Amino acid sequence: MVMQSVTVLDRLIALEADVTYREPPADGCPPFRYEPGTRPILLSAPHGAAHRRNDDYKQEDEYTAAFARLLAQRTGAHVLYAFAQSESDPNWDQESAYKTALRHIAATRDIRFVADIHGMSNRHKFGIAVGTMCGASCRQRHEVIISETLTAAGFIETTAPEAKAFPTLRWDRFVVNHGRFTGGLTSHTVTRFAAEELGIHAAQFELCADLRIVRRRGTDKWPGDFRGDPMGIARAVAAFERLTTALAA
Ligand SMILES: [Zn+2]
Repeated sequence: MVMQSVTVLDRLIALEADVTYREPPADGCPPFRYEPGTRPILLSAPHGAAHRRNDDYKQEDEYTAAFARLLAQRTGAHVLYAFAQSESDPNWDQESAYKTALRHIAATRDIRFVADIHGMSNRHKFGIAVGTMCGASCRQRHEVIISETLTAAGFIETTAPEAKAFPTLRWDRFVVNHGRFTGGLTSHTVTRFAAEELGIHAAQFELCADLRIVRRRGTDKWPGDFRGDPMGIARAVAAFERLTTALAA
């Protein structure tokens, strides 16, 4: 088990090294990449690098690109991920090159589910936020698969009010359709785009910092090195590996 989690963490570090958070792609190519898979599910990480929303650059959701790619390698899922700074916000702008690419993938490949992976702060005090637009972005059976698979992997379902009352972060808790993380009831998310524009079932997954950031050096915005919880990250990868397979079935 120890060996296994070391390998997972090393693989995530190696994959994340491909991402340039604050630089546009070198040769004018799109700031995202698609790697085809063999299973009918697409993993998406649109915020893997910094992105512009209106006039501001928003900070990257660190390690979501690496997380999505590692899962794709282990399960045969398709993966679309940001690897360099973007002049648009793929998850906020109603139209973006990222969504156009997603539309093209959906038209040419067999994709039956889109799992859109993001990063949230530890300050919400729970590990994983699952957003299904309160049930509108996928079927109830998908919600059951998500809750049961996360539970079987050692995560415990809780509610937004309960999480708010936690004294400190409990990364082993998850909330479905937290008011702040519905996956697209109020904005033009990738989840909403997949469900409404492409007719593909989808859900959004927000992972807290402790469940995904293996290590990052301090920046001017976030001084001091940060390391997530190694056991938590290994458990999150194992849980989402099973979940990816289950949602594709
Ligand atoms: Zn995000």
